[in-house]
Amino acid sequence: MPSEQPLVAEHVLEFPGGYTRTTGPVIGRFLTELRSGRIVGVRTAEGRVLVPPLEYDPSTGEPVTGEYVEVGPAGTVKSWAWVSDPLPGHPLDRPFAWALIELDGADTALVHAVDAGNPKALARGTRVWPVWRSPRTGQITDIEYFAPEVTRIVSNVRSAYRLQAGGALRRFLDGIERGLFLGGRCATCDKVYVPYRRSCPQCGTPIAEEVELPDTGTITTFAINNLPDPRAPEVPFVSAYILLDGADIPMIALVGGIPAHEVRQGMRVRAEWIPEAERGPSMSNIRWFAPTGEPDVEL
Ligand SMILES: [Zn+2]
Repeated sequence: MPSEQPLVAEHVLEFPGGYTRTTGPVIGRFLTELRSGRIVGVRTAEGRVLVPPLEYDPSTGEPVTGEYVEVGPAGTVKSWAWVSDPLPGHPLDRPFAWALIELDGADTALVHAVDAGNPKALARGTRVWPVWRSPRTGQITDIEYFAPEVTRIVSNVRSAYRLQAGGALRRFLDGIERGLFLGGRCATCDKVYVPYRRSCPQCGTPIAEEVELPDTGTITTFAINNLPDPRAPEVPFVSAYILLDGADIPMIALVGGIPAHEVRQGMRVRAEWIPEAERGPSMSNIRWFAPTGEPDVEL
């Protein structure tokens, strides 16, 4: 009885050490120019520029002119296919695109890899530039890949400025230096504002009466912050609106001395001052507000 198993033999076609072939004059010129970091095309009898160059014009079958034209190095993506799982023989070991790229000055497009990071960074018309290999040896892989034009950069931002505290703020910070919260009472609406100010934000009346407030208050609202801040001791930290006793509007400050998740609205807090000798006219005199341990307040 004949076996129903198909007969199978595995074959591998391989040229250990490499298969040497001649390039011909046109491709040879193209690869020699690549080794020098230039990309050239060849002009056809009709005046078009073929990149990569060919010995015969594919549209007419006529031999090309022998005039080489430098193109690019930048080009425009005409179409592309995303490779999310690169194979061992691929030019990049991370996801990339195979793209048809028309280099500036060329009339045809060449296929090459584009390292765009993700497919959303690529579109028809995306401008790309070659990233050259070092050292170059005269192969198409002398261009490691193309990369999208640089259209944005990430730079560190630091601005140093001097704040000149005039009038009301100066007065308030003088109080802070002495360990006092100074507010102002509006004679018209009878509201107490802290920090101290010269005129009422509600009715515009000039404020004449200065009020000394205690350094205790109640948390009205708060936020748990999970991003680091140079002014905060750790992450997460809590910033809160604190209504000082006797004030009518809350001020913003850090809350400390308690785990972030235990902070609550209505919690009674007191300012924790840095040692007197280290104080200056600055809000950093107050390390943070910490719970007093008193019962919560109904807001
Ligand atoms: Zn007022």
